[in-house]
Amino acid sequence: MLELQSFAAGHWVGPGGNAAIIDSAITGAPMARAGDSDLQFVDMAADARNVGGPALRALTFHDRARMLKALAQHLNAHKAPLYALSHHTGATQADNLFDIDGGIGTLFVYASKGRREMPDARVYLDGAPEALSRDGSFLGQHICVPKTGLALQINAFNFPVWGMLEKLAPALLAGVPSIIKPATASAYLTEACFRLIIDSGILPDGAVQLVTGDVSPIFDELGPQDVASFTGSAATAGLLRGNVAFMERGAHFTAEQDSLNASILGRDAKPDSEEFALFVKEALREMTTKAGQKCTAMRRLIVPDWAVEPVADALRERLSAIVVGDPRLDAVQMGALVSQKQRRDVLSKAEILSAEATDLLGDGSDFKPLGDDVQGGAFVPPMLFHCPDPHSAQRVHDTEAFGPVSTIMGYRDADDAAMLANRGGGSLVASVFTADPGLAENLVSQMAPWHGRLYINNARAKGGATGHGAPMPHMVHGGPGRAGGGEELGGIRGVMHYMQRTAIQGDAATLSAIGSRWMPGAPHVKGPAHPFKRTFGDLQIGETITTPERIVTLADIEHFAEFTGDTFYAHMDEAAAKANPFFPGRVAHGYLLLSFAAGLFVEPAPGPVLANTGLDNLRFMKPVEPDDRISVQLTVKAKTPRSPEYGEVRWHVVLNNQDGDAVAEYELLTMNAFA
Ligand code: NAP
Repeated sequence: MLELQSFAAGHWVGPGGNAAIIDSAITGAPMARAGDSDLQFVDMAADARNVGGPALRALTFHDRARMLKALAQHLNAHKAPLYALSHHTGATQADNLFDIDGGIGTLFVYASKGRREMPDARVYLDGAPEALSRDGSFLGQHICVPKTGLALQINAFNFPVWGMLEKLAPALLAGVPSIIKPATASAYLTEACFRLIIDSGILPDGAVQLVTGDVSPIFDELGPQDVASFTGSAATAGLLRGNVAFMERGAHFTAEQDSLNASILGRDAKPDSEEFALFVKEALREMTTKAGQKCTAMRRLIVPDWAVEPVADALRERLSAIVVGDPRLDAVQMGALVSQKQRRDVLSKAEILSAEATDLLGDGSDFKPLGDDVQGGAFVPPMLFHCPDPHSAQRVHDTEAFGPVSTIMGYRDADDAAMLANRGGGSLVASVFTADPGLAENLVSQMAPWHGRLYINNARAKGGATGHGAPMPHMVHGGPGRAGGGEELGGIRGVMHYMQRTAIQGDAATLSAIGSRWMPGAPHVKGPAHPFKRTFGDLQIGETITTPERIVTLADIEHFAEFTGDTFYAHMDEAAAKANPFFPGRVAHGYLLLSFAAGLFVEPAPGPVLANTGLDNLRFMKPVEPDDRISVQLTVKAKTPRSPEYGEVRWHVVLNNQDGDAVAEYELLTMNAFA
C-alpha cells in the first residue's frame, strides 16, 4: 500500500488515519492511501508567497526557461517507474506516452519558447510603444510582470502527469509558485512525478507544493494576487466559482471543464476518400485512447445523412476488434476506466444517452476483458450510439459519458452540421474532415465562436496532423461556455494568465530603462570603441555610432542595376520614374542603400560580431536621388543571450540623407560573441 504524502512548506506530510483508499483500476485491489493529512494551509500560502515567489521573481525569463528544460530532461531520464504506476490508472503504454511523455514534451516546448520569445529580463514587453504626444516626448508601453501571489492548480484524474505539467510550465515561466492538487483517483502517479521534481533539486524552495487529499481550506487564503486554475467537471467548477475568494476577494478563477466535442465529416468525403478513412481512424483513436477519458475526445460524430450507415459499419467493425483488458499486456489496445466510481458514472450516462440513441455494438453482455486478475477492474466495452433525430434530441448534446462512448448523428447541409456542433454549448475542440477549403471556411466561421480549437484534417494535412484530441502547447487549450470559458497553453499566451499587464506611461528614457530595451527618443550613449569591436557583455543598451556620409551617384545606381539585374524603370528611366507618383525622377534601389549602409558601419576585421542573422521591420521612407548623401545611425536596441558563447543583438538602424531626413529604418540582428 502506497502512503501518498503532501509536500507543504518544504516538508513531506503523510496521510492521516481517515485517508481515502485508492484502488487499482486493473484489479480493483487497494493500492494507496491519500488525504486527511495535518496540513497548515496558512503556512503553505505563506511559503509560496514569501519563499517561492521572491526566489522565482529574482530569476529572468531565460533563467526560468533553462530551469524548465533541466526539469524536462530530469523527468525524461527518470520516467520509467512512472509507466509502471500509470498502468494502474487503467492506461496502456500508448496512453502513458500521451500523459507522461506528452507532459514532459510540454515542459520542453515552454523551455524553448521562453528563451526564444521572451527577454532575458524580469519584465515582458507586450507590443510596441505607443506615441501619446505629438512630439514623441510622452510614450506608452504595456508590460507584464508576475503576480506576487500563488497559483493553485486543481487537476482532473485523467492526465495525472500532463495535467500537472501543462499548468506548472507556464506558471513557473511566469515566475509564480504553484500549489498542485491532483485528483485523488490517480494521485499516486502525480505524487511520484512530483517527488522526481523535488528530488531533482532544480526548483528553488517554495516554488512548488503538493496537496494529496482535500484542498478546500486553502480557498480561505486566496486573495487578489492569486490564481486558481481548475480542470474537472462542470459541477465542481460551478461549486468553486462561487467561492468568496473569487466573488469578493478578487482571486482569479479559470476553469477547463467537460465538453461535448464534435467531429464533422465533410460532404465531399465519400466512403472511398482519404478524408473518410481519416475520420474513421481518428474517431476510433479518440474513443479508445485513455478508454475515452479525454476531455477533448470526440463525443458526437456528425456526418452527412447518407454517411451514417457507412460510418457506423466501419466503426462497428473496428471497435468490435479492439482488445480491452489489462493495459500491461501487449495485446491490449484499450485499458480500464480509472475507478469503479467512474465506471458506474459512465454506465449511468450511457443509460441517459440510450433514451435518444441506439447502441450499435449491443448490450455488452458478452464483454470480457483480457487478463488474469481483472474481475475487480473498472473495464467497460466501447459504446457507439446512433441518434436518429439529433435536432429534437437534447441529452446527446449535453451528456458527457467520460469513457469510450460516442454518438453518430446525421446532418443535412453545412449550416445544419455547424448548428449541431454548436449545440454542445461551447466545446474545447471540434474537427472537420474535408478536402474542400470553402466548406472548411464556412464551418469555421459558424463554429469558431463556440469552440476553443478547430482542427481540419484531409489528405493534404494527414502527414503532419497532430490529432483531434491532442492539445498542443503552442495552441490554446480551453473553450467557451460549457467548456468552462478558460484558456490554457497557447504558447506565451498561457504564461500571461499568471502575470499582470500594466500600461506604463512616461518619457522614452524612463520606459527604455523599465523595459531593458532602447526606444526612439531615448538618449544615445557613446561607447569607448566602435560597437562591432565590443563583446556581447560590454555593449550597452542605447550605445550608438553615427557614420560619416557617403554620396550616392548615378553611376552607383547604374552599376548596381547592371550587377544585380534589377533594372526597374524607377532606377533607369528618368521620364517613366517621374510619371510615378512616388518618385521625383530616377532613384537609388532600396537594397543598394542597405548595402551602402553595411559598408558604412561594418568593421572589416574579425571581431565579436559573428554573423548577420536578419533584418526586421524594414521601411523605405523617402527616395534617395543621384548625388544625395546618406549616413547611418546604429543603436543597440536589445540584447538576448542565445548560447553560452554568443547572444543576439538587435540594432535600431536609421539611414538619414544630407538634410537629416530619415530615408530608411530597420532593425538589424547580429550574433555577437561573449568574449
Ligand atoms: P472532478 O470530480 O470535478 O474533480 C476535479 C478536481 O477537483 C479533482 O482534483 C478533485 O479532487 C477536485 N475537487 C473536487 N471537489 C472539490 C472541492 N470542493 N474543492 C476543491 N477541489 C475539489 O473531475 P474529475 O472526475 O477528476 O475529472 C473528470 C472531468 O474533468 C470530466 O468531466 C472531464 O471532461 C473534465 N476534464 C476537463 C479537461 C479540460 O481541459 N477541459 C481536462 C481533463 C478532464 P478529488 O479527486 O480529491 O475529489
